[in-house]
Amino acid sequence: MTSPHLTHRHRKLADLSKKQGLDALAINPGPSLPYLTGLHFHMSERPVVVFFSADHPPIIVLPELEMLKMKNLPYEIEAFPYGEDPASWGQVFQEAMRAGGLEQSRIGIEPLALRVLELGFLEAAAPEAQFVSGEAAVVELRMRKDQGEVAHMRKAAQIAQAALHATLPMVKPGVTERQIASELALQLLRHGSQSPIAFAPIVSSGPNSANPHAFPSDRELVPGDLLVIDWGASVEGYLSDITRTFAIGEVAPEFELIAEIVEKANAAGRAAVKPGVPAGQVDDAARKVITEAGYGQYFTHRTGHGLGLEGHEEPYIRSGSQLPLEVGMSFTIEPGIYLPGRGGVRIEDDVVVAADGLESLTDLPRRLQVIEG
Ligand code: ZN
Ligand code: ZN
Repeated sequence: MTSPHLTHRHRKLADLSKKQGLDALAINPGPSLPYLTGLHFHMSERPVVVFFSADHPPIIVLPELEMLKMKNLPYEIEAFPYGEDPASWGQVFQEAMRAGGLEQSRIGIEPLALRVLELGFLEAAAPEAQFVSGEAAVVELRMRKDQGEVAHMRKAAQIAQAALHATLPMVKPGVTERQIASELALQLLRHGSQSPIAFAPIVSSGPNSANPHAFPSDRELVPGDLLVIDWGASVEGYLSDITRTFAIGEVAPEFELIAEIVEKANAAGRAAVKPGVPAGQVDDAARKVITEAGYGQYFTHRTGHGLGLEGHEEPYIRSGSQLPLEVGMSFTIEPGIYLPGRGGVRIEDDVVVAADGLESLTDLPRRLQVIEG
């Protein structure tokens, strides 16, 4: 990560914070921290917090043992390290916040990342400060991917597709969902995914495939099953998230029918993506195909979710969202039909909004693929 990159992000973050009425942001380990600092920390019992404000270089409170990471950073940062005695940490937080002039500030935090642990130290160090959600500022910034980020996502999609290719030969009747999921996880790593992979692969067969978020079980594949595989890789923290559906041998005609409908809904969703279009319109386009075919009640979730450093982030592709799509926004298109107790189909692609429509990062065949025993 080059320094103009990060300092540019710091400047934009300061602008966006101001727009949200915030004096500063307090960010702890989670996807936004490496995005803003290039630094990686594990979330642990030792709190790490970085303060960003318009008129001060970033300030970081961190354990002494992590100080090596402060060397040769491509931007200015003021570090406040603490030792191993937790009784001393409060004072270090106080010094850091005083140095930043934050004692009476309105400070944005990320509600999904900051824990009671960090909040306790912040509130004790600055009893007169206000801590509110700063999510909007961070979301605004992270929602539009630059070319470097898209390149990581493209690679994460390619790795995932190659891993599936390498896994498919073992998929046949008699093999369990869990065996397929573990082979796929292994192939993701072998093909270059970072560890941890994007998420534990979903492999669901037969009646289990009617559950959109099934966990792989010891169920063995049998002819006539639908098989849903939902998996992804991670590259520099950026994720892919793909779903394809397979038929094990010959399946019921209705299964072939819903597979065709979902394929059309996926295509309609992708066709609706262009700059300026409200996110909700993409959901409407995909949903319309399924509803008109009579399966509307079996498409039980939104059409997609933003994808990037997190598996689920803005923009959410849900009905009613007025958020206008912009170049660089990345998300999934993943309509599905789930027939309770029988089987389900989902087809999920990862796309990035481009000037002339979209770039699909995923291009595996979307048609129901029949796997013969
Ligand atoms: Zn998925
Ligand atoms: Zn998804």
